[in-house]
Amino acid sequence: MVRIATYASHSALQILKGAKDEGFETVAFGKSRVKLLYTKYFPVADYFLEDTYPENDLLRLDAVVIPTGSFVAHLGVELVEKMKVPYFGNKKVLRWESDRNLERKWLEKAKLRLPRVYDDPDDIDGPVIVKPHGAKGGRGYFLAKNPEDFWEKAGRFLGIKDKEDLKNVQIQEYVIGIPVYPHYFYSRIKGELELMSIDRRYESNVDAIGRIPAREQLDLDIDITYTVIGNIPIVLRESLLIDVLEAGERTVKAAEELMGGLWGPFCLEGVFTPEMEFVVFEISARIVAGTNPFIHGSPYTWLKYNEPMSTGRRIAREIKMAIENDELEKVVT
Ligand code: AMP
Ligand code: AMP
Repeated sequence: MVRIATYASHSALQILKGAKDEGFETVAFGKSRVKLLYTKYFPVADYFLEDTYPENDLLRLDAVVIPTGSFVAHLGVELVEKMKVPYFGNKKVLRWESDRNLERKWLEKAKLRLPRVYDDPDDIDGPVIVKPHGAKGGRGYFLAKNPEDFWEKAGRFLGIKDKEDLKNVQIQEYVIGIPVYPHYFYSRIKGELELMSIDRRYESNVDAIGRIPAREQLDLDIDITYTVIGNIPIVLRESLLIDVLEAGERTVKAAEELMGGLWGPFCLEGVFTPEMEFVVFEISARIVAGTNPFIHGSPYTWLKYNEPMSTGRRIAREIKMAIENDELEKVVT
């Protein structure tokens, strides 16, 4: 009997609740300190294993692991690639996603609007956001407005002194717009793309800056940080939905050509400009925690399902359909 397992953080409550709603037994694994969160305060885990990745126990329990940002961050891409427990999704995507150059190639192939990338900081002619490779969740990012500003901050924050040291950062045009993170689900069993929900992140301290008058901001000399604290649901202007869906379809198609497919949940992270263009700066090829406000479903899932359908539950349903059709190997790697 297949059980659904995930690492105890990020969106595990949603994933395990969704799995139980679809009739699966569930397994959470992770730090002992959070055990009661998943077994007592929110009783969604039938088993709790106190380990970062208890491979033998997971194999014994016939588990399918649902990857999350936390799972991949704690285990590391190399170990995830080698794991023996079935993994929901296409592991080949991990390399494409973790290398900013490959990721860009993928998104370009999908014909998405991307921020301009500056190879030479001395070309900076407008606001930029500087992203060190491997920086997660916006930690270590900084903004700059011209080459002098860039070199001063690159030295102060990253110890970068000359162009030799630039291999490990990407300098992106800072696109001014409203952050919008659509959550998709591509069903490999049905060959269909669904829009599950949309969020924006609530980040400290960037979302607090606007509460301080501009004069004080200048006096306090605040450096911006993007630490995710929570997520806020968004319902999009209806005429923009078709753009978002077409962007998702092209992303799946490009993945089929480049890496044998992208299935299950994924998210395009971007902003809508005043010209109503969706500029995408990142892809997350798995469930994002921005789906958590929608444990009981979203306005979009309610249009399609006459029952509460979270992304977590949709994953479990996909696995259930795959098992019923005897094609589980189609959705795990
Ligand atoms: P955690 O397990 O909370 O330490 O998170 C692991 C990774 O997932 C980090 O890169 C976080 O930035 C990301 N993450 C966790 N929770 C959220 C959230 N609510 N929204 C967006 N990203 C998140
Ligand atoms: P992320 O790396 O996706 O977690 O991004 C961290 C924060 O930086 C988020 O608030 C994004 O909205 C913002 N951000 C990232 N790239 C850009 C960009 N090119 N233009 C504007 N904002 C960005």
